[in-house]
Amino acid sequence: MWYNEDQDEHIISIGARTSIRVTKKLYEKQSNFQKIEIYQTDAFGKMMVLDNCIMLTDANEFAYHEMIAHVPLFAHPNPERVLIIGGGDGGTAREVLRHPQVKECVMVEIDEEVVNVSREYFPAIAAELDNPRLDLRIEDGMAYIRNNENAFDVILIDSTDPVGIAENLITVKFYEETHRSLKKGGIMVAQAESPFYFADIQRKLFQNIKGAFPAVSMYLSQIPFYPSGTWSFAFATQEAGFDRTNYRVADLKAMEHQLQYFNEALFTGCFAIPTFAKKMIE
Ligand code: SAM
Repeated sequence: MWYNEDQDEHIISIGARTSIRVTKKLYEKQSNFQKIEIYQTDAFGKMMVLDNCIMLTDANEFAYHEMIAHVPLFAHPNPERVLIIGGGDGGTAREVLRHPQVKECVMVEIDEEVVNVSREYFPAIAAELDNPRLDLRIEDGMAYIRNNENAFDVILIDSTDPVGIAENLITVKFYEETHRSLKKGGIMVAQAESPFYFADIQRKLFQNIKGAFPAVSMYLSQIPFYPSGTWSFAFATQEAGFDRTNYRVADLKAMEHQLQYFNEALFTGCFAIPTFAKKMIE
């Protein structure tokens, strides 16, 4: 039995499909916000699907979660307060909380059902959801961000694709609120879709970030079950003139052995992007 994600019916019609052999559907529920499905795959552990889009598999979730979290957290000199918008599975929070500098991580997820199924079906991903340094709130990220000013060192936008509940999360208004919520020298990273498949969305996302932040760049990760396999992140800084080569290298070297994807070479390497992607966001 095959699970097919048709990249034809969601954000943009691109006439492509990702197929993964599955042995069983373990769970299906329409929550107040989205359809949640969990499958047992043949070779990649369990898989979470939200509104017909593959979110993660046990086998390679690390490629996404390590890259969304560690690039900005090692770039920041002292990331004490971190905000995650979305991220209900807990994978991003798990990576953020590896950093002893982080005193508090606030996670704002709109859909409690995603958190509940992750605790049940993905215990290794949800492992840190009860960490005392994590403040988990069930709320719309757009509503939460309005009430903060000068509050966070790093903000991570770990949301679903920018349709429906996540549509507001790529607007100039949202990025302005995010910029205001960052402390001086703060960093925002947002999952930013595939440069191969979703050029129009990327253009809009990066243009809107530029409308609110003085500087933004793109970095890449290879994520096998996301459309095209190549995924991007937007890295925006609260101040211009941010020196990306000045990262916490000793701390990164000390953590490398715990990680499966991110390493020192990738810190600068992941910002090397192909010409077509560079032109797209200029
Ligand atoms: N971390 C995952 C991965 O490996 O790709 C994917 C993302 S996580 C499951 C995305 C979450 O963003 C979903 O649980 C969804 O409910 C949440 N989300 C979408 N829109 C939101 C909003 N407006 N406010 C807060 N959370 C939101």
